[in-house]
Amino acid sequence: MTRQTDALRGLPSVDEVLKTPAARVASDRFGRPAAVAAVRTALDASRAAVRAGRLDAVGVDEVAIAALAGLNRDARPNVRAVFNLTGTVLHTNLGRAVLAEAAVDAAVTAMRQTIALEFDLASGRRGERDALVRGLLCELTGAEDATVVNNNAAAVFIVLNTLSKGRHAIVSRGELIEIGGAFRMPDVMARAGARLREVGTTNRTHAKDYVEALSEKTGLVLKVHTSNYRIKGFTAEVAARDLAALSRARGVPLVNDLGSGTLVDLAHLGLARERTVAEAVADGADLVTFSGDKLLGGPQAGFIVGRKELVTKINRNPMKRALRVDKIRLAAIEATLRLYRDPDRLAERLPTMRLLARSHAEIAAQARRLQPAVAAALGRAFAVTVVDCTSHVGSGALPLEGVSSAGLAARPANARKISLARLAAALRNLPTPVVGRIDDGALVLDLRCLDDEASFVANLASLPGAGDAVA
Ligand SMILES: *Cc1c(COP(=O)(O)O)cnc(C)c1O
Repeated sequence: MTRQTDALRGLPSVDEVLKTPAARVASDRFGRPAAVAAVRTALDASRAAVRAGRLDAVGVDEVAIAALAGLNRDARPNVRAVFNLTGTVLHTNLGRAVLAEAAVDAAVTAMRQTIALEFDLASGRRGERDALVRGLLCELTGAEDATVVNNNAAAVFIVLNTLSKGRHAIVSRGELIEIGGAFRMPDVMARAGARLREVGTTNRTHAKDYVEALSEKTGLVLKVHTSNYRIKGFTAEVAARDLAALSRARGVPLVNDLGSGTLVDLAHLGLARERTVAEAVADGADLVTFSGDKLLGGPQAGFIVGRKELVTKINRNPMKRALRVDKIRLAAIEATLRLYRDPDRLAERLPTMRLLARSHAEIAAQARRLQPAVAAALGRAFAVTVVDCTSHVGSGALPLEGVSSAGLAARPANARKISLARLAAALRNLPTPVVGRIDDGALVLDLRCLDDEASFVANLASLPGAGDAVA
């Protein structure tokens, strides 16, 4: 008891701690108020440890060092790079597309300098921000007009709100999708003020279903890319071209929500043929909506392309102001779209394409190269082997399409399941967190998205006890 009392009496004062070298460093680096607060926190922790019998004596330098460590920990940015070794190239939870250098440069210019955002340099008069990308979008899609909003969810919302508020929006029951989290087509429609008019059945919808539903109450016909799932077997859907013809005959606009939307044919990457945005426009849709940060490989954005008269209406909707994109993203969007003018060099310049284009052989060779370093870093508790695996595009694009890939699999050497979750946690806790996936009793690191091997290996050196400690 007396020892505890002595230890509590011997606790240094805040002022004493602040005179130590470590506290001076803390004060220089983070400012005096933060240093004082951190010292108080460290002293409270020491006092609690003494009371709990975990500590016999409190040194003034130890308190200061603990305070400085706490401040350093807290100073680490929340936004930092991670190694995406999940095999999902466009991982929504990991920020989707990595931007092209040209897009990064353009965004930096827009951040550092004033730009002509809504200013027509030719006339010296007020301009509009959409004008920065309208020409490119029209050129790449064949559409008459184009506008940009915050993301594709916003694009769908503002289209519905503008064209079918208080009116019927006709959709096939096979296309009433939910896309991760909160985006459910029927809910978005309700919020946009559109009245959902479902037609057909889950697996089969016919032209006559649409024809019977069309009336003077119809605001639009909506076709939705089912993105993250496929209906297989006894199925029928009405092709966009036919839907366009029957909508036009009734004077009702057809809107095609492509979801991911690609500007180029991806067949050369070994992926399934998807209709491009230009093809969807050519099929006769009055408006086509698609994402900026899915297959397109740009920043988060939603594009609406199509008939001028409808785009003008959308731009007049007061919600446009609430959903518009900022100058930084507009700059990155323009630079990304410009890359599409030279499709042959896209795979060199656009990270999304480059990563999807990497061959199995190239990735397998990388896995063999890295195996010794990873095995050494994880230690004896894990067996690390080169494995074949399957990458995915992600973000609901081409969900059934696997892309043949390779990686490293770590299995517990002694069949203890718990250690796999701990290994995954230790990897996530590295200076640059490493995110893999646990699959069939192994932690698999799919190397498709690993660019910087040297940094990856250097980063592993921070694993506690060269890996043995996590087992
Ligand atoms: C992904 C997707 C959306 C939402 O797009 P975001 O850019 O993520 O807002 C909407 N519709 C479809 C069909 C999609 O695949």
